[in-house]
Amino acid sequence: MSKQVSGTVYLVGAGPGDPGLLTLRAAWLLGRADAVVYDRLIHPEVLKHARPRARLLFVGKEGGGESVRQEEINALLVSQARLGRTVVRLKGGDPFVFGRGGEEALALEAAGISYEVVPGVSSGVAAPAAAGIPVTHRDVSGSVTFATGHRSGKAPDWAHLAGAETLVLFMAGSRLEEATLALIAAGRSPSTPTAIVEAGTWEHQRVIEAPLASIAQRAREAAVGSPALLVVGEVVSLRSQLRSLVRSEPVVSESARFLKAEAGHE
Ligand code: SAH
Repeated sequence: MSKQVSGTVYLVGAGPGDPGLLTLRAAWLLGRADAVVYDRLIHPEVLKHARPRARLLFVGKEGGGESVRQEEINALLVSQARLGRTVVRLKGGDPFVFGRGGEEALALEAAGISYEVVPGVSSGVAAPAAAGIPVTHRDVSGSVTFATGHRSGKAPDWAHLAGAETLVLFMAGSRLEEATLALIAAGRSPSTPTAIVEAGTWEHQRVIEAPLASIAQRAREAAVGSPALLVVGEVVSLRSQLRSLVRSEPVVSESARFLKAEAGHE
C-alpha cells in the first residue's frame, strides 16, 4: 500500500445556531471538506454549505441517547485525516469554549496530524445578545465570567462564581435548582436579575426572566430544555430598555434564503 500524505483537520466553530452567524471561513472550508464530523446543535442550514459529495458524520447525542465517546471522536478525526481527507470538525459556538476542542487539538497534535482552529461565535455572548442582554455594560458590569454547571467529578467553585459581575452559566439546564441555591448560599442576592436563554438565535428561541431565587421554578414551569444558558447579573435588567433592539424573529429565514441563493451560483 502506498503511503498517503495525511489530510488536515479544521476544528470549526459553527456559531450559536442561526446559520447567518457562521463565519465566512467556516462556510469556505465546508465547501471544500471531504468529511464533515458534526454534533447536535448544528443548524441543518449550516450543513448545506458542505460539498454535495462530502461525507457527513454525525457524532452527537440523539434524543437523550449516548453520544459518541470523546476518544472515538478523536480516533475518527485521526483516521479520516490519515485517509488523506480534508476534515471539518464542526462544533456548536466556539470550539474552545466548553466544546472539548482543546482535547481534539491535543489528540491531533499527538498523532502528528496538521490542524487549524477556526473560532466561532460563542453562545455565551450571542445567546444573551439575542435576548437583549449585553454581557458587559459601562457602569453596570465590567466583567463577565463563563462557567459550566457540569464539571466531571468536580463541583463548580460557587463562592467564586457568586462574586462574578455577570455570570453566564453553560449547561445549566439539568442542575438549575442546585446552581441557583448554591449561588445564593455563597452570597449572591436572591433578587439578582437572571434570565435563561433557551436555543438562543434559533427559530424557537425562548427567554425567561426572573430574580435568581425564582428562576429555577419558572424554568421548570416553562419546561425549559436544551440548549440553554443562565445569565446572572444586573445587565439582565437592561433587557427591558432594549426592547426595540431585540429582533422580533430570528434571522434564520433570511440567512437560509441567502444560503440557497449562494448555492444556486455553484
Ligand atoms: N462551544 C459552545 C458551547 C458548547 S457546550 C459555544 O461556544 O457556544 C453546550 C452548552 O452551550 C449548552 O448546554 C448550552 O448551555 C450552551 N448553548 C449552546 N448553544 C446555545 C444556544 N443557541 N442558546 C443557549 N445556550 C446554548
